[in-house]
Amino acid sequence: MRKKKAIVSACLLGETVRYDGTTKINNEVIEALKEYEIIPFCPEDPVMGTPRERISVIKIDGHYKVMTDNSKIEVTTALKLQTQKMMDAHPDADIVVLKSKSPSCGLGTTPILTPSRDVLKIGNGVAAELFSQKFPGKVYDENSFFKGVDSKSSLE
Ligand code: SF4
Repeated sequence: MRKKKAIVSACLLGETVRYDGTTKINNEVIEALKEYEIIPFCPEDPVMGTPRERISVIKIDGHYKVMTDNSKIEVTTALKLQTQKMMDAHPDADIVVLKSKSPSCGLGTTPILTPSRDVLKIGNGVAAELFSQKFPGKVYDENSFFKGVDSKSSLE
């Protein structure tokens, strides 16, 4: 019988892939998923490298764009492509556990900004949004995972 498969934000697994080269290792998540086949996921590291400039989700002319904070380069498509590659490689994933508040991975916890950088609302990062559409009811962050709260789309 195959092991259940979990796609997990790589920084929760101890990989040093955050923008500043640190990790957000979460031993509770790792322990809870010890019976699963773990598939590490980080869309930002292959696109921008580590360490890297910070990025933000900004609603511009009705569209959600992910921009680098200082150099103002748009990376939305590249991040979506990384997420799509992961979903294509693992369409049979049983669960997705993502890091909260990230512009990519945040699930209902990511600040969505106006062009002048005011907080418009709190929503999904770009990867979390795509995962939520692909795997409804199977996407969590490191907090909701332990509360059994299902995901839903918030970039509407
Ligand atoms: S939150 Fe997501 S994009 Fe950010 S470092 Fe962790 S895995 Fe990578």
